[in-house]
Amino acid sequence: MKQYIDKMKVTFLGTGTSQGIPIIGSKHPVCLSDNPKDKRLRVSVLVEWENYSYVIDCGPDFRYQMLRANCDKIDGIIFTHEHSDHVAGLDDIRPFYFRQGDIPIYAHKRVLQALKTRYNYFFKTENKYPGVPTVIENEITDSTFSLGGIEIVPINVMHSTLQVYGFRFNDFAYITDAKTVVDEEKSKLKGVKVLVVNALRHEPHQSHFNLEEALHFISELQPERAYLTHISHLLGFHDEVQQILPENVFLAYDNLEISL
Ligand SMILES: [Zn+2]
Repeated sequence: MKQYIDKMKVTFLGTGTSQGIPIIGSKHPVCLSDNPKDKRLRVSVLVEWENYSYVIDCGPDFRYQMLRANCDKIDGIIFTHEHSDHVAGLDDIRPFYFRQGDIPIYAHKRVLQALKTRYNYFFKTENKYPGVPTVIENEITDSTFSLGGIEIVPINVMHSTLQVYGFRFNDFAYITDAKTVVDEEKSKLKGVKVLVVNALRHEPHQSHFNLEEALHFISELQPERAYLTHISHLLGFHDEVQQILPENVFLAYDNLEISL
């Protein structure tokens, strides 16, 4: 039975880049680290308030993330974009579907189309295989929408040439897979208190902020606190990277919970 949550609570279900950390077969020291904070599943967060629980993205680690977070109810899945590390766990909504019925999903029209291609068996109207879940499609546009009494502001960011949505929930904003954000979109983040943003590694990358770009983005927006996510092993050991960050910036890690 889900407890009533007074404040908004955010749980980092995964904080790793597309291959996760450790990478299969890698002998990189970060991949061999014993520190639990250096083990990162694919990026996702659980956002909870009152009796509501929404997951942002549903990557290949979704099943284990739901077990690990003890999450037995979701009100919907909000997608940032259609890359595999953000969508490949969708088939594992079955336990939620069996208990709750059709599961609402929220995504850009292009992402809904991609999900229909990948998960065509979900969307069959005839001869649907027994036990295949049904989702309720909700198209996200650039307009604000409401979930559980909260206004959600979609933020357009660019992942190389691909549009990706970030989301602002009141004082909290979650931006992943960003490389560039135009001023008009940045202005939608003004006054945000807690900002989560992607920071892949030290070296520049064509479709992700590196650490320097992420810190610059944070210094422009001046949140009270910021958390870095979508992290590659090449960023380094959690405990070492944390020491070089400004005092209001934190390296997120799996299972980290924040309240606001
Ligand atoms: Zn990604």
